[in-house]
Amino acid sequence: MKVFVIGIGLIGGSLVLDIKKKYSEAVIYGIDAKESHLDKALEIGVIEHKAKLEDVQNADVVIVSIPVDAQLTVIPKVLDLVSDDALVMDVGSTKEDICLAVSEHPKRRNDLAMHPIAGTEFSGPTAAHNGLFDQKTNIICEVEKTAFKLQERALDIFSKLGMRIRYMDAKSHDKHIAYVSHLSHISAFMLGKTVIEKEKNERDIFDMAGSGFASTVRLAKSSPAMWAPIFEQNKTNVIETLDEYINNLQQFKELMMQNDFTEIYNEMESTNHIKQILNGIK
Ligand code: NAP
Repeated sequence: MKVFVIGIGLIGGSLVLDIKKKYSEAVIYGIDAKESHLDKALEIGVIEHKAKLEDVQNADVVIVSIPVDAQLTVIPKVLDLVSDDALVMDVGSTKEDICLAVSEHPKRRNDLAMHPIAGTEFSGPTAAHNGLFDQKTNIICEVEKTAFKLQERALDIFSKLGMRIRYMDAKSHDKHIAYVSHLSHISAFMLGKTVIEKEKNERDIFDMAGSGFASTVRLAKSSPAMWAPIFEQNKTNVIETLDEYINNLQQFKELMMQNDFTEIYNEMESTNHIKQILNGIK
């Protein structure tokens, strides 16, 4: 099985590491915009061979794992090149624009639109690691538009990697993911900004930062090159989540100003319900 990964970073690199582990016959080819990423991926064993985009004509599986703005042009080019039997999987964090970009392509049935809900704040080939997708949800969109035998090949891979599958239409995916992923990132970035700005005047602030601050602000280490296009493609949904979030922050501030700490207590107590909701998520 010849597997090509376009974009050898956290997601693409981790996928091929696991595929190589589970399919001993798999041969892994890497394509990346940056030559140094290819060299590093080869050196640390994430890929076995360097390749060029035109080589995907020999692929059994192609994973497109680059920022979502680049996906809009690269996936159609990949579909132009691949054989009728090749499976193309795109892993972009937004789905509606990507599904639209391939909707009229004559090889649409070769493409599987997915979003593995797994990740870290790190990027590039050194961020890739085994087991990232174990017991994680993989959202598949518009599955009916993918050829049945290619769906089967994809599901075999996902099952061997330990993924749980959810099916969703692309519009609903983008609406829901804006809350649980995109808003969390904006919240972390702006928390980080607020503290950095304060730190300019008060040098001691980071000496007082404990693990609570570190874990809350973790996502602010994420790559702007990946996140700016995500916010752009999901702008309408993200603005809606921001309106609701800002409204909640504003209400909290008003309660503070009114000295209504009973209501603040109640707000926090009812939000503690998140413990039950997230129970079992690693
Ligand atoms: P990443 O670690 O930055 O990897 C992306 C790689 O693609 C980098 O090596 C990047 O090089 C390269 N690249 C950028 N544009 C390219 C192009 N036009 N052609 C070839 N290579 C290109 O990013 P990632 O976190 O793996 O994300 C990849 C995809 O997975 C994105 O679509 C993202 O939305 C999706 N995703 C991410 C997460 C997450 O939590 N990180 C989770 C699920 C899905 P440069 O560094 O030089 O740009």
